Amino acid sequence: MIRKLLHRVFSRKPSASVSTPGTSGAELRIIPRKQHAIPRHHISPCASKVTSELQQAGYSAFVVGGAVRDLLLGLEPKDYDVATNATPEDVRAVFRRSRIIGRRFRLVHVMCGSETVEVSTFRGDSSTDEDNGITANKHADEHGRLLRDNVFGSQKEDAVRRDFTVNALFYDPAKEEIWDYLNGYDDIKAKRLRIIGDPLQRYREDPVRMLRAVRLAAKLGMQIDEATAAPIGDLAPLLRNVPPSRLFDEMLKFLLSGYALASVVDLRARGLHHGLLPMLDVILEQPLGERFITLALKNTDERVRQEKPVSPGFLFAALLWHEVLAQWNIRQASGEKPMLALQQAMDDVLAVQDKELAIPRRYDVIMQEIWAMQLRFLGRGGRRPFRLLEHPRFRAAYDFMLLRCESGEIDPELGQWWEAFQRADAGEREAMLLKDEVPKKRRKRRSRREPVAGDGASPDSSAADAVIS
Ligand code: ATP
Ligand code: MG
Repeated sequence: MIRKLLHRVFSRKPSASVSTPGTSGAELRIIPRKQHAIPRHHISPCASKVTSELQQAGYSAFVVGGAVRDLLLGLEPKDYDVATNATPEDVRAVFRRSRIIGRRFRLVHVMCGSETVEVSTFRGDSSTDEDNGITANKHADEHGRLLRDNVFGSQKEDAVRRDFTVNALFYDPAKEEIWDYLNGYDDIKAKRLRIIGDPLQRYREDPVRMLRAVRLAAKLGMQIDEATAAPIGDLAPLLRNVPPSRLFDEMLKFLLSGYALASVVDLRARGLHHGLLPMLDVILEQPLGERFITLALKNTDERVRQEKPVSPGFLFAALLWHEVLAQWNIRQASGEKPMLALQQAMDDVLAVQDKELAIPRRYDVIMQEIWAMQLRFLGRGGRRPFRLLEHPRFRAAYDFMLLRCESGEIDPELGQWWEAFQRADAGEREAMLLKDEVPKKRRKRRSRREPVAGDGASPDSSAADAVIS
């Protein structure tokens, strides 16, 4: 008990050290149950258990961030975060099923059944010079990006270091109170997304906040406040300094949010897609590519909203397809054979993408299979269509090909044929085969080169030319 008391006295720093411009006067407002509309039973049992057991152990503990925001908006939170004045070791001592994670900033994962709640200790502003309370950006790179964010602080400081006012609300499930230091509650009611503090400084500290602004506004149906939106276009290049793995995580959240299309349209309007997916830029400027990506994102959004599984590999394959197509065309024009040209085009695109965005290598295989099968859809004679149907990735590649038809890139007749072929019985399938598609002479020659296409299904170059012209 004495240890806890000492900890509480010494772990807090004076709130005067909060120096984010425009937030130093942050006043706590407590919103009681009769004013807000969060029913207690909507909180996940695990989050209630974690806050209540921490409180019983003498600490303060609140549900915080996205979960409170979503509950106030009548949405179901994806995950729950708890903020407390207990240190990770204290939290670990309270919960048997818990583990400390993270090296730079340590968090605790508390498990109840299949649910996990993330518990973090109130954090302060690590850009502040601790001796004199002014912003010194001691722990920032030359662009102002924060490299350190691991100083314990008070609850108020923890609110101020968050990104948007609507993400800085604390909820106490026991008292059913919302603690609001930054008028986040009013912003939620007004559907206004407002960054905490000085927008320029906050985006420089962490450029990913620009992406979060666009994603959250689309997801929550909020307007980005004018001052919050204004610097986004100009500061977009700062995203290049963000480690690729972090950019990738954010991009995945973005694409699988269920609001990807609205977000991409918004990103584009703000000039932000330049830093997000460098190649998206090139693609969106092509009339065919834009229609294709729009359809791919629309389908993905529908699937996410219907809670159907979505394959990120499929989506990446779609985002990069027109880049592959362009390379493929160039290589064929210089005389390379279709399958070889396609393989090289895929390798080129993946190599650039790997450097720029670090799409993990585990997605390469699915992208390559989907792309390579596009050529194989042209082989509609002999046993080739039968072999293709058995490919484990047939369904994904077929859906992909339908998108190409729908976008106007290829003749819809190809999609219709494959649709009919799948539905047909054995006899009908035989009758559907296009016997003349590949000239005999070439077919003979190709059989010696079969390994290139995986199962030897490469159609001849005239057929391949037809699909990409
Ligand atoms: P969602 O989970 O719906 O994508 P979220 O706001 O919960 O949205 P998380 O990534 O789960 O997003 O972050 C949890 C909380 O951590 C946020 O609500 C916010 O308070 C804080 N946070 C997240 N990212 C940042 C950031 N880049 N800068 C400052 N605070 C952040
Ligand atoms: Mg969250």
